[in-house]
Amino acid sequence: MVRRWHLIRMYVYLETEVQYLKGVGPKLGSALNRRGIETVQDLIEYIPRAYESRRHAIQISDLKEGEVVSLKAQIISLQTFSIGQRKQKVHEVIIKDETGRIRLKYFRLPYRGYFQKFSVQQIVRVTGKVINYRGQLEFHHPDLQDINEVKTSAQSADNQDQLIPIYTETDGLNSAKIAALIQKAFASLIPQGGSLREGPPLKPEQLGLVLLDKLPSWLKEKYGLISRLQALRWVHQPEILQASEYQNFRSSAHRRLIFEEFFWHELYLLSKKATVQKHKAPIFRAEEKSIDKFKQLLPFQLTQAQQRAFSEIQADFALGRPMQRLVQGDVGSGKTMVAFLAIVQAAANGFQTSLMVPTEILAEQHYKSALRQLQPLGIKVALLIGKMKSQEKQIVISDLQKGYIDVLIGTQALIQEGVDFHRLGLIIIDEQHRFGVLQRGFLKEKGRSPHFLVMTATPIPRTLAMTVYGDLDVSVIDELPAGRQPIVTRVTHTGQREKIWSFLQSQVAAGRQAYVIYPLVEESEKLDLKDAVSQYKLMCESMPTLRFGLLHGKMKSSEKEEVMRSFREHKFDVLVSTTVVEVGVDVPNANLMIVEHAERFGLSQLHQLRGRVGRGTHKSYCVLVSAGRPSDAAKFRLDIMEKNTDGFKIAEADLELRGPGEFLGEKQSGLAGFKVANIVRDKELLEEARNAALAVIAKDADLIQSEHALMRAELVKVHGPLFMASIA
Ligand code: ADP
Ligand code: MG
Repeated sequence: MVRRWHLIRMYVYLETEVQYLKGVGPKLGSALNRRGIETVQDLIEYIPRAYESRRHAIQISDLKEGEVVSLKAQIISLQTFSIGQRKQKVHEVIIKDETGRIRLKYFRLPYRGYFQKFSVQQIVRVTGKVINYRGQLEFHHPDLQDINEVKTSAQSADNQDQLIPIYTETDGLNSAKIAALIQKAFASLIPQGGSLREGPPLKPEQLGLVLLDKLPSWLKEKYGLISRLQALRWVHQPEILQASEYQNFRSSAHRRLIFEEFFWHELYLLSKKATVQKHKAPIFRAEEKSIDKFKQLLPFQLTQAQQRAFSEIQADFALGRPMQRLVQGDVGSGKTMVAFLAIVQAAANGFQTSLMVPTEILAEQHYKSALRQLQPLGIKVALLIGKMKSQEKQIVISDLQKGYIDVLIGTQALIQEGVDFHRLGLIIIDEQHRFGVLQRGFLKEKGRSPHFLVMTATPIPRTLAMTVYGDLDVSVIDELPAGRQPIVTRVTHTGQREKIWSFLQSQVAAGRQAYVIYPLVEESEKLDLKDAVSQYKLMCESMPTLRFGLLHGKMKSSEKEEVMRSFREHKFDVLVSTTVVEVGVDVPNANLMIVEHAERFGLSQLHQLRGRVGRGTHKSYCVLVSAGRPSDAAKFRLDIMEKNTDGFKIAEADLELRGPGEFLGEKQSGLAGFKVANIVRDKELLEEARNAALAVIAKDADLIQSEHALMRAELVKVHGPLFMASIA
C-alpha cells in the first residue's frame, strides 16, 4: 500500500486530481481548485498572465493603459475604505518607484488575510493590467508578491537573461511556485492506460503520447501551427529572444493555443448547425400574389437591404430544412417588415408563426402593426400577454390549436409555456439580445421542425457574431429607409438647461414629441442625481403649456403600457422616462431624445436610446447632457456618439472599451470559457479558426474520416454524445 501511494504521487495522468501531484497535497490542492485547476491537465493549461523580462525593468512612468505588466515598487500606503450605499469594501494600496506612484484597488480579496503579509515600505512585485479609471492609471486586482519570495524561487534565480512567466497567484501559491509545479507536472506525466508501476516518467519527446495533438496535420500545416505539446512547453518556458512576442501573446505557442481554443468552439457550433440541417422542415413556396399584395398595402417602398434579407429568408424556405437565420440591423432599419414578409409567406403556405418579443409593450406594438398590415390580407393575428384575463388566454390557446390563428404574438415566456400550435412553421424572436441565453429548444426530434428567425438590433461586430451566433446564418440590414435624415447629436452639460428646454419647446410647438431619459428611478442621496420623478415635476411646472408623461421601472406593467399607449397616440408631448423605453419602441412622431446624465450610460445603451428617434421623416435630434465634469472615459464615449451614427462602428468601439464579457453578458456570450483566447485581442485568429472549422466541416461534416476521429472524440467529450446524433 505504501509503495502504491508513493507511486501515485510520483507519476500522474492528465486526469489525475492535482492534489496527488508530488509537492501539492490537499491544502494547496484546494487552493488550486479555487482557481479552477482541478486536474494535472488544468495545471499545465494554466497559462501565464504576463511575462517579465529582467533585462528591461518596467517603471511606473512607462505604464500605458491596457498593458499587462509586472514591475517592482515600494508600498507607501495600505488602506481599506467603504464606499457607496452598500458600504462595499475597497482595499487600496499605493506604490511608488523612482519615476512615480500608482494606485492598486481590490474590490474583493483574493483570499482572506491577503494583506496581512504586506506592510508600508515593503518592496513588492505587482503584476496586472493597467486600467484607465476616470483619467487615472490604476491596477485593479493585480497580483502582489513580496520581492524576496520572488527572488528565492528557483525559477527566477539570478539569471538576468530569462523571460519569467507570471501566473495569477492563489492562496499560498505564488507565481514562482506555480511555475515550479507546472514543470513538475510535465516531468511526472505518464500516458493513461499505462501501468502505474511502469516508470520512469516519459522523456520530453515522448510526452506527445500524453498530450495528444487532436488537430489533423493538414490543418496545422495550412495554418502554420506548432504541435500542442510544443506550445504547452514553450508557453511556460518562454524564450527571451522572443520576449515581445510572448508579452503580446503572439508567440507561436500562444498562436497555437489561442487558435485551438477558438477552433473547438467554432467546430462545435458549425457541426451543431450541420446536424440541425439534417432535420426536415416544411418548404414554403414563394407566394408572389400575397407578397405583392402585402407590399402594395405598405405606405412605403421596402429598402434594398430589407429586400435582400427577405430573399435570403426565401432561399432558406425553399430548402426543406430548418432556417437558422439571424437578421442584424441597426435600430430603425425596419426589421419588423422583414419579419412580416416571412409571416406572409408562411401563412400563404398554410403554416402558423409564433412571434416572440421581450416585453409586453413591444408585443402590443407589434400586434397593432400586424392588425394594420397583416389582417387585411386575411392573416389572422392574435396576442398573448400576461395581463390578459385567463379566459381570454384560453380562447387564444384553443383557437391556436384548432388552427384558426396564423400568427401568435407575445412574450417569449408565455408562448413557450404549454402553447400547442396546430401547424407551427416559423418561429421569430425579436430583440433577441434582450432574452439572454438564446432559446432553441424547438427542434423536434422526429418529423418536421419549424424555421427559425432571430432579429437583433444590437449590431454585433463580426468577430463577436461569429463566436456567439456561429451556428446561425446572418443577414444584415445595412441601410436605413429612404428619407431618414441622420440624427443630429450634440453633447452638452446641465449648465445649458435653458437652451435645451427652449429647444424642446420649439420642437413640441412644431407638432413633434420628445423623450427625456434619466438613469435612476429614485433620488440617491449620495450621488446627487436628479431622478426622473423629481425632474418630471420640475418640468411640468416650468413648461406648463407642454403635456408630460412619466414612465419608470417601479411602475406596474399595466401602468407602463398605458403611458406608452398614450404617448404613441400623442396624448402628451414629452415622455420623461428611465431606460425602460430602450427596447424596440417605435413612435415615429418623436424626433428629440434628451439623455440626462449621459456620462453614466454605456455606448450600446446610448445608441439604443438614440434609435428611438429618427424613425419618421422629421429631422431628429439627440442631446446628450452630462452632469459635472465627465471622466476621460465618458468623454470618449460621448465623443464617439457625436461623431458616429453607424451602430456597427459604435458596437465595435464598445467591444474594445468593455471587453466581450461585459458587452454581451458572460452567460449569453458563452465567452467565459475561454482560457487563453480573447476575442478582442485575437480577432484575426478567430477568423482563421472559423475558416479552419468551415474547411473541416466542408470536408467531413460528420467527422467520420480517420484523421478526424480525435476531433470528433474531443467534441463528444466536451459536449456529450448526443450533440451530433444523426437524425432519422
Ligand atoms: P427596427 O425594429 O429595425 O428598429 P422597425 O421595424 O421598428 O425598426 O421600423 C422603424 C420604422 O421605420 C417603423 O415606423 C417602420 O414602419 C418604418 N419603416 C420600415 N421599413 C421602412 C421603409 N422601407 N421605408 C420607410 N419606413 C420604413
Ligand atoms: Mg424592432
